[in-house]
Amino acid sequence: MAENEWVTGTIRVSIAGHPLEMSMTVPAKPIKPHRMLPVFHQMTNSFVGLSVEAAKAEGEAVSCKAGCGACCRQPVPLAEVEVYQLAELVEAMPEPKKSEIKERFAASAEHFRKIGWFDRVGRFSELARTEPEETVAEEVKNAVHQYMDERIPCPFLEEESCTIHESRPIACREYLVTSPAENCYDPTAATVKKVDMIMEPSKILKHLGTTGSFANAGLLPLVRALELADKVPEHFVEKTGERWVADFFGIMTRSEIPKKGIKAKPKSNRKPRKKRR
Ligand code: SF4
Repeated sequence: MAENEWVTGTIRVSIAGHPLEMSMTVPAKPIKPHRMLPVFHQMTNSFVGLSVEAAKAEGEAVSCKAGCGACCRQPVPLAEVEVYQLAELVEAMPEPKKSEIKERFAASAEHFRKIGWFDRVGRFSELARTEPEETVAEEVKNAVHQYMDERIPCPFLEEESCTIHESRPIACREYLVTSPAENCYDPTAATVKKVDMIMEPSKILKHLGTTGSFANAGLLPLVRALELADKVPEHFVEKTGERWVADFFGIMTRSEIPKKGIKAKPKSNRKPRKKRR
């Protein structure tokens, strides 16, 4: 995109008493929401950074390190926008990598379908309508454990490293621990201590731009991303980058941010200042 097709703005927020200023450059023209993910990744990194600082202030140190993929055998919940972002990411990979990754996705999805795991999580929405919150939470916890017990690595994991680190899902970014990293192979509440996130953009993203196509899926696990994107072509609406950011913060604050509430600074086409005499 040409330079004047971007706008730069600064966002100042205070979350749980932590001030945060973020400068971001977003497309000025209407785009689909999954194309905004690099911006939301950048925002997530800022929120995660604040959370890590808060943990440090409490005397805790993050034990996650490069080359540790212990947590990458857990079901990664995706937002609808991430389903299409990951599908596009894989589609853009060079061969033979693309075919290898697609095969891993197909094999993993087939495995979890065979053991009835997708059917199990598909009942979450119905359960949420009929059962008390604790019952649903217990079922979600048990389903997550069933998934992990299968010990199937994420299709993007190679030599215990994430091959899409820069583009990894938001839920992966939010998962950091201060307990021994190897405990994540078999996590329990007693053995794994997660860093408390001051904010979880993954929960906001679930509502951003959603079309309702997967409203009854219960959970969108990463291993289903390719088949779901294939089965249901995306039909997102387009909005400007500023508007998507405003929608994000609108969902976060449960309020609608009016158009005049966004003050973005165009990168070019700025009116020249009048000279002082
Ligand atoms: S996307 Fe990357 S970080 Fe997330 S589970 Fe897969 S390999 Fe791990």
